[in-house]
Amino acid sequence: MQDCIFCRIVKGEIPCHIVYENRHIIAFLDINPMTEGHTLVVSKAHIESFSDSSIDIASKIAESSVTVAGALKKALKPEGFNYFINEGKLAGQLVMHLHMHVVPRYSDDDVKFEAGRVELDDEKMKAIAKRISKEI
Ligand code: AMP
Repeated sequence: MQDCIFCRIVKGEIPCHIVYENRHIIAFLDINPMTEGHTLVVSKAHIESFSDSSIDIASKIAESSVTVAGALKKALKPEGFNYFINEGKLAGQLVMHLHMHVVPRYSDDDVKFEAGRVELDDEKMKAIAKRISKEI
């Protein structure tokens, strides 16, 4: 896509710090990192969301995320990781081109994932699970 920033990175029109690349995937450092080594694992094809991607592309994103995490472990010795994909503006997706965040975690970092929780009784949980599983 012409005006997609990640498509432009894939085409080499915008510089970035590449850490890994194969035929389908490019992984580069996030320009505004949550921690040292925060990497984005990006599909080269312009796909907007994870839920609309093929199992093949989703698997390639997962596989490359494992590869990148292994390298980050050796290079930067983090104590853990957060892996996440934001999907949709409401969920915080700023760049509408599928990417996995791989965020190495350190004891002195300043990352906070705080979320409220909804209270659902067992009947409600049962009904939700039924509605979802019917669609699979
Ligand atoms: P998201 O909110 O999940 O769409 O995340 C988009 C991420 O892309 C943000 O963490 C940005 O810092 C990052 N980002 C935006 N532009 C660039 C760029 N030119 N190079 C590297 N990372 C970028």
